Amino acid sequence: MSKFATFMNTRPVLVADGAMGTMLHKAGLPAGIAPERWNLENPDAVSAIYKAYLDAGADMILTNTFGGTPVRLERDNLHEQAHTVNLVAAQMVCEIVGDRALAIGDIGPTGQILEPLGTLPYAAAVSAFATQAAALAEGGVDAILIETMSDLGEAIAAIEGTRQVTRLPILVTMSFDTKGRTMMGVKPEKAAQTLWDMGVAVIGANCGRTLSETFEAIVKMRATVPEAVLMAKPNAGLPHATGHDLVYDVTPEMMAEYAQRFVAEAGVKIFGGCCGSTPEHIRAVAAVLKNL
Ligand SMILES: [Zn+2]
Repeated sequence: MSKFATFMNTRPVLVADGAMGTMLHKAGLPAGIAPERWNLENPDAVSAIYKAYLDAGADMILTNTFGGTPVRLERDNLHEQAHTVNLVAAQMVCEIVGDRALAIGDIGPTGQILEPLGTLPYAAAVSAFATQAAALAEGGVDAILIETMSDLGEAIAAIEGTRQVTRLPILVTMSFDTKGRTMMGVKPEKAAQTLWDMGVAVIGANCGRTLSETFEAIVKMRATVPEAVLMAKPNAGLPHATGHDLVYDVTPEMMAEYAQRFVAEAGVKIFGGCCGSTPEHIRAVAAVLKNL
């Protein structure tokens, strides 16, 4: 059995990690710099965050490669190093987690809108995702997570690109942050049916706005596909500007309480945090979920 299957089959619930971007900015990453740049230029700061989540009890650690498609890396003139940026991130997570947790290759949106609404051709999106997934797979990750998707077409391009280069299990989560739908208007029901029919291992919701909105999206996904394996990685609520800092309104205790509801009422198999969540949030979540 693969390491991924072993974790999935032997543990009732898996705890994923929390925010990466939030933690990198706390560690001093300047605004406007691609977080992936630090995989090359400040690896110690990145690995400290992986270790903090592992020590907090996470069973899954995501690579710092959310913006790691060549298309998105071009914003920070890092696209020619796309392979290296993803490869070293995967190698670093694998080395840190060992057998204690799963190393998950993280893939986020390209940041561009696909044709015909936008200018990115579908084939170019598939190729960008394939480049990223190949490097993550080469670096040794246990599965690929395609996350924070708004456009179902882009999610499908990411699945296709990943499948061109690896047979690793694929997890896909979308962000329902606009009145119960994604920014591109996709409803949870439609996302659940389409993605699950593509034969991926896990589907779900991440980022979004509040815990309750992400909870509602997950409940709809569960009702649409009762047999689906679900994952939720909600934000720690909404950010508020306090001086120079962004403060999120959900405490670790509140997130842990909601984590139990996601599992008990919606049958979520994997729960973690997105923007604004910290190792303290994940520690609180792990403490309750591992005692269920
Ligand atoms: Zn987020």
